[in-house]
Amino acid sequence: MSRVLIIGCGGVASVAIQKCCQVSEVFTEICIASRTKSKCDALAAKLEGNTSTKITTAQVDADKTEEVIALIKNYKPELVMNIALPYQDLTIMDACLACGINYMDTANYEPEDINEPNWRAIYDKRCKEEGFSAYFDYSWQWAYRKKFEDAGLTALLGSGFDPGVTQAYCAYALKHEFDQIDTIDILDCNGGDHGYPFATNFNPEINLREVSAPGSYWENGHWVEIPAMSIKREYNFEEVGQKDMYLLHHEEIESLAKTIPGVKRIRFFMTFGQSYLDHMRCLENVGMLSTTPINYEGKEIVPIQFLKALLPDPATLGPRTKGKTNIGCIFTGTKDGKPKTYYIYNICDHEECYKEVESQAISYTTGVPAMCGALMLLTGKWNKAGVYTVEEFDPDPYIEALDKYGLPHRESYSPVLVD
Ligand code: NDP
Repeated sequence: MSRVLIIGCGGVASVAIQKCCQVSEVFTEICIASRTKSKCDALAAKLEGNTSTKITTAQVDADKTEEVIALIKNYKPELVMNIALPYQDLTIMDACLACGINYMDTANYEPEDINEPNWRAIYDKRCKEEGFSAYFDYSWQWAYRKKFEDAGLTALLGSGFDPGVTQAYCAYALKHEFDQIDTIDILDCNGGDHGYPFATNFNPEINLREVSAPGSYWENGHWVEIPAMSIKREYNFEEVGQKDMYLLHHEEIESLAKTIPGVKRIRFFMTFGQSYLDHMRCLENVGMLSTTPINYEGKEIVPIQFLKALLPDPATLGPRTKGKTNIGCIFTGTKDGKPKTYYIYNICDHEECYKEVESQAISYTTGVPAMCGALMLLTGKWNKAGVYTVEEFDPDPYIEALDKYGLPHRESYSPVLVD
C-alpha cells in the first residue's frame, strides 16, 4: 500500500523496479524518475500489463536538490529509492529531509570531481585522521544522522549486495552463530564471461574508481593500506571454480569495524581476470581514469566519462554473460567458548537472471536487495529514525525476503579459510 519514488533507471534500477512490480501488494504505485526520461518510459511500457503496480515516469536532474524537492512535493511518495549514482546521495538526502520522506540508496557518497578544492581539503583531513585514502567513505552521510533522527525519518545506506547483503550476513552471523566474531573475510566472485576483452559490470566510472584505489583492511583497531591490487589470493568458489582474488578497500568494512563488537580483522576480496587488470592498468597509466576535466580542442572533457562512452553499457551485457557469481562472508570466532568457522553466501546464475529480468547477475544481485531494503522500510520491519547501514537492523526478515525474491543464502560450517 505504498507510493515510492525511484531515482535512476540504469542497470541496477531496472532490476529493482521489476522486482518492486513483483510485490505489487506493497509497491502499489511507483514513479520512475531519471535524467533521461525516455529510458524510464521504455521500462514502464515493458512492464505495463504485467504488473498491478501503477507506474508513472518523470524527468529529474538529481544533482539539483530543488528539482528533487519539486518532484517529491508533486508525487508525494513515502520513500525515495536512490538508485542513480553515489554523486547524487547528498542532494537526494537533502530533498528527503526538506520534504519529510524516508531515504535509501545502494552505494555511499563520493564527489564527482575528486580534485575540487573544497572537497579535497575535507578528503585530505579524513585521510590523515582515518588512515585510508579511498575516495568514498561514510562520513558524508553519517553527518546527516542527527538531522534524520530529529526529523523522525530513516535513511538506509547501501542496500545492494556488497555493501548490503554482506552486512546482513554479518548481523545474522552475530545473532545466530557466534558469541564473538574475530575475523570477517568478504569474498566477491564474479565467474561470469561476457566475451568482451574489457567491460565493467556496473557503472564504469564508479567501478573503475573503486578498483583502482589503494586497497585497505581493518586490523586490530586501525586501517592497513596497501597499493592497489598488491594482495592476491586464490580461492576455489563453489559452482565457479578456482579464481584469483585481490584485496580492495570496500565501504562496508568501515561500518562493520564500528558495529561488530571486538572484531579483530575485516578484509574484502574481489575476483578479477588478467585481461581486466591489464586493461585497467594501461588505462590508468595513460590517464583515462582521471576525473579531472581537461581541455581538448576547445571542449572540456572528463577522461573517465569519455572512456565510459566508449565502453559497453553494463545494461547490455545481460544477453552475452554466462556463468555465476558467488558472494558471501567467511567468519572465525567463538560460540559457547569453542572456536568456530562459518560461511554464508549466495550463488547467482547470469543466464537465469537474464531469463527473469533481462539483466546480468551483477545488476540482479544489487537490484533485488534494493527492493528488499525498501520492503523492510515500507512494511515497518526496519523503522528506526536516523541514518543506518544494513547490519544495524534485524537481519532475519531481510534475509527471508532475499531468499524469497531470488537470492537464497547457503551456509557452510567447514569453509576453506583465506590465509
Ligand atoms: P547506471 O550507470 O547503469 O545507471 C545510473 C542511472 O542513474 C542512470 O539511469 C542515469 O541516467 C541516472 N543518473 C545519473 N545521474 C543522474 C542525475 N544527475 N539525475 C538523475 N538521474 C541520474 O548505474 P548502475 O545501475 O550500474 O548503478 C546504480 C547504483 O548502484 C550506483 O550507485 C552503483 O554504485 C550502485 N551499485 C551498488 C552495488 C552494491 O552491491 N551495493 C553493486 C553495483 C552497483 P542516464 O540514463 O541519463 O545516464
